[in-house]
Amino acid sequence: MKTEVLDAGAIVNWEEQVDVLVVGLGAGGAAAALGARETGAETLVAERAGGGGGTSAMSGGVIYLGGGTALQKACGFEDSPEEMLKYLSASIGPGRDDTKLAAYCDGSVEHFDWLVAQGMPYKETYYYGQSGEPPTDDGLVWSGSENVHPFRDIAKPAPRGHVAAVPGAAGHKVMSVLCDAVDRSGARTAFNTTCTALYQERDGAITGARLETFGEARNVRARGGVIITTGGFVLNDDMLNAYIPAALKCSMRVAADGDDGSGIRLGMAAGAGTRHLDKVSVSLPVTQPWDLKAGLLVNGQGQRFINEDAYYGRLGDYALLRHEGRCWLVVDDEFYIKPEYGFELAAVGETPAELGQELGLPEGALESTIEVFNRHAERGEDPLFGKREPYLKPIQTPPFGAIDCTTENARYAVFTLGGLATDVDGRILDPEGRPISGLLGAGRSTSGIAVGGYSSGLSLGDGTFFGRRAGRIAGGQRS
Ligand SMILES: Cc1cc2nc3c(=O)[nH]c(=O)nc-3n(C[C@H](O)[C@H](O)[C@H](O)COP(=O)(O)OP(=O)(O)OC[C@H]3O[C@@H](n4cnc5c(N)ncnc54)[C@H](O)[C@@H]3O)c2cc1C
Repeated sequence: MKTEVLDAGAIVNWEEQVDVLVVGLGAGGAAAALGARETGAETLVAERAGGGGGTSAMSGGVIYLGGGTALQKACGFEDSPEEMLKYLSASIGPGRDDTKLAAYCDGSVEHFDWLVAQGMPYKETYYYGQSGEPPTDDGLVWSGSENVHPFRDIAKPAPRGHVAAVPGAAGHKVMSVLCDAVDRSGARTAFNTTCTALYQERDGAITGARLETFGEARNVRARGGVIITTGGFVLNDDMLNAYIPAALKCSMRVAADGDDGSGIRLGMAAGAGTRHLDKVSVSLPVTQPWDLKAGLLVNGQGQRFINEDAYYGRLGDYALLRHEGRCWLVVDDEFYIKPEYGFELAAVGETPAELGQELGLPEGALESTIEVFNRHAERGEDPLFGKREPYLKPIQTPPFGAIDCTTENARYAVFTLGGLATDVDGRILDPEGRPISGLLGAGRSTSGIAVGGYSSGLSLGDGTFFGRRAGRIAGGQRS
């Protein structure tokens, strides 16, 4: 879809006037509308699809929160904003926004309470053994690499994946609760309504937008601001090609139709800066069930490159971005169990040498990888990558197998993390770091907490957290 920025001075009559215009009704947009309504602002939400939900409704519904939420406490886990900050600072990696991160960790307990107040149901039970949404309606899961090397030695581990009480993927529940809250709040919604242009004053301020419903356009003035919450750009091949071509190799680019980067392009055309457009979250969920963490993930040289007990988002990140999506999980007959998510065996051999040959690996490479791993595993150690018990099992019981983790044959689930540059209150910034008056954003059309080094739940987490802040700011500046 084409987007443009038009001269606000040329408008004689605005067909409609509101305090705050929110563009897109996913998790970020819902929170922005609710934040705006908290200030009493007259709020309109324009959503391109026939109803609210976006990619958020298709997601696992895990929300990354911590610091000692009521749910963590009820499940018997201790946590603090300091430990949460230590983990996220270490796992997110370079390029993070420390101001946003600190605000998110400090405000996490309150944000959980706010979600509950909107009607989000959480069962006060903990589920072990899943790196994301559990198959049950349990409320708390591990959703990152908190309890594995190297992070377990950096911050006190605690599970922080908060999941609404429905079995399996809970994104639809998250969004039905948030959309109901938006309706109750008094915000108006306009569905099948696409924002195709922003209106900009001579001084750069954004004062309105053009909305199109079934081909009919109207110009809407937004006195307090336009909030862009249109999601990421994983469905836009041109943008992926320009910023992160490796993502095009991923078999699973699951997203609502709106994830074509239209909001990011609108913001850029209005002079916004961007951050981390080359960053994605890539999941390689090959170690579900968790017994498969005993396997060895090897690359095209037959060498290990990570502790296999890490969160599957970290496995995917390393496999796709550092090893070209060409790797296999080596297993033996003792612990092999059929993987979930459609992963299949690529080869089987009676010896490591035969398996290596079947995979076309350099002669001797796989044998030496397995021999070195076994030698240390027998002593309960993994000095190369720090994998821990109970997944430190020598690979020794034939037949040996290699689960296919190549991008051609395996499930790599990807979505984009980078977007418009914003400050801690959701104001969109120009390339010099100055706010563009009247333009705000949240969710995956902006760059949020995760800039690589993903943990599940950070996207719905930062989208709702900073969306609400952006809504309050826009609502407060109406005149
Ligand atoms: C399989 C899968 C599982 C996931 N699981 C999780 C999880 O458990 N936890 C987590 O935190 N993240 C998860 N994610 C990531 C997460 O779903 C998204 O990053 C998040 O939903 C983005 O929210 P958003 O509000 O920014 O965008 P969206 O939810 O996509 O909402 C954007 C809305 O804007 C609309 N829109 C777009 N352009 C326009 C326009 N020009 N005018 C009007 N409307 C427009 C769209 O139609 C859409 O409804 C998962 C992703 C995938 C693919």
